[in-house]
Amino acid sequence: MNARRIGAIAAAAALALGLTACGDSADDGDTGSTSSAGKIKIGIKFDQPGLGLKSGSSYSGLDVDVAKYVAKELGHAEGDIEFVQAPSAQRETLISTGQVQMIFATYSITDKRKATVSFAGPYFIAGQDLLVRADDTSITGPETLTGKKLCSVTGSTSAQNVKDKFPGVQLQQFGTYSECVAALASKGIDALTTDNTILAGYAAQDQYKGKLKVVGKTFSEERYGVGIKKGDTALCGKINTALTKMIDSGDWQKAVDANLGPAGFKVDTAVNPPKPDACS
Ligand code: GLU
Repeated sequence: MNARRIGAIAAAAALALGLTACGDSADDGDTGSTSSAGKIKIGIKFDQPGLGLKSGSSYSGLDVDVAKYVAKELGHAEGDIEFVQAPSAQRETLISTGQVQMIFATYSITDKRKATVSFAGPYFIAGQDLLVRADDTSITGPETLTGKKLCSVTGSTSAQNVKDKFPGVQLQQFGTYSECVAALASKGIDALTTDNTILAGYAAQDQYKGKLKVVGKTFSEERYGVGIKKGDTALCGKINTALTKMIDSGDWQKAVDANLGPAGFKVDTAVNPPKPDACS
């Protein structure tokens, strides 16, 4: 089924549900989007600076830029994208229930998740690390966390990896990483663990500058994929084509520099940019 046909079906479904403003087919408004493949809901994070961040009514970050690029390649006008918050623990559900069509949300490709959803990509490779207060010299890696309070997020690989590899650590799980960061700054917890990309973004935020530091010893490989409905290999193939074009054209590098550069994040060029996996 091609993108135009999907758009037509989506428009028909929207009409049937009475969701369009004035029953005027797919072209119902803002940007003269007659050639758009139609509206699309995309899951992102809302609270991760440099990756997925909502400020007022605007969205920024690497995930957002990759999502916009891919959506455009799939034929969607920019005005037809609706960004939906996709907290770590809700991503599989958001996709399998059809509340979003794609997820770009620091979403690591794992075999466990592949039981429920499919992935295009990867489009970036990060690694799990630790964020601590700047004056803390006692935490130098995950093996130094005994007796410390560690925070991570429910439904993340970060929390799962700690449970699997460092079972003695006191782990608290919150719903979002920004809740962990606030607790770290106020000394409610001693360390936050998740991807180094996310941690770098928080450490560079104005309110935390000089107060927090990334330990800098990664202990996992996090391959960011695009979450889609399980088994949609046609969509996966189109997304991979778009990702490859973004990388080959230099736009991927521009997006990486613009979004991760300001936090001083050092991209691991031994593994980035990655090649998309075969769709299955
Ligand atoms: N990339 C990891 C994951 O997908 C951690 C970051 C996140 O929770 O979004 O679980």
